[in-house]
Amino acid sequence: MAWTLIRIDFTETCECIFGEKKHYITCGKGYVVVNNEGIEAFCGPQCAKNSKYVTNPNEKVPDFTKGCLVIDVKEQTQSTFNPHSDDKSPSQINNQKSDYIKAISYLLLRVEKLKHYPQMRYKKLSDIYGKYLSGQLDNIDINFLLMLGESSIYPEFSYQNLQAIYACDFWINQFLKQNANKDTSFVKEIKSYLVANLALTPSQIKGLNRWFDNTEGKKIVNIKPNAFAIDPTTYWKNKFKK
Ligand SMILES: [Zn+2]
Repeated sequence: MAWTLIRIDFTETCECIFGEKKHYITCGKGYVVVNNEGIEAFCGPQCAKNSKYVTNPNEKVPDFTKGCLVIDVKEQTQSTFNPHSDDKSPSQINNQKSDYIKAISYLLLRVEKLKHYPQMRYKKLSDIYGKYLSGQLDNIDINFLLMLGESSIYPEFSYQNLQAIYACDFWINQFLKQNANKDTSFVKEIKSYLVANLALTPSQIKGLNRWFDNTEGKKIVNIKPNAFAIDPTTYWKNKFKK
């Protein structure tokens, strides 16, 4: 069965699908692979580099986990790409490729991963998403996506901010699932705040991290205090004043 790397995504601790010996992904993120039947599974960073297991080892794929977690140094060395893997290609091709990956990551984050956030909806993006699914994206679309991702006029919809929303959204839901029988109203409140304001305050992130840390003595993850592109306490007030 052939497996292909398609993205890097958050995951709770799970078994790597490859390898001779059973082993686990414990750092909160893993490589998603898909087979020809469309079935998705997780593998770890080492197996993702192994051509025995995947058809495209070391290929750059969208990374939805970038930038938002404080990761132990030990885990980090296990989970980063080999930075020298594509040194041989001309740098221009690399830039084009990384622009493309960045644009697609933005599109998928906003249209798929955060589709339950009403404010994310945007007709033009749905059209571009349709083109993406049928393999018809052109350079104008890519540039448009890159522009949205870097927008300083709407930083709430910037790539950085979407990544932070996704990270918090994923781990809040994970936490709520694991603690379904406990009083989690504080975390639920933070979740509603995030949906309404598209960001959390540093003190809310601090609170979340404390909850994540105390969950049955098992740490979930640690969100960076400055993960978001906006400070929701002042941003929305100033925005509507203008
Ligand atoms: Zn593995």
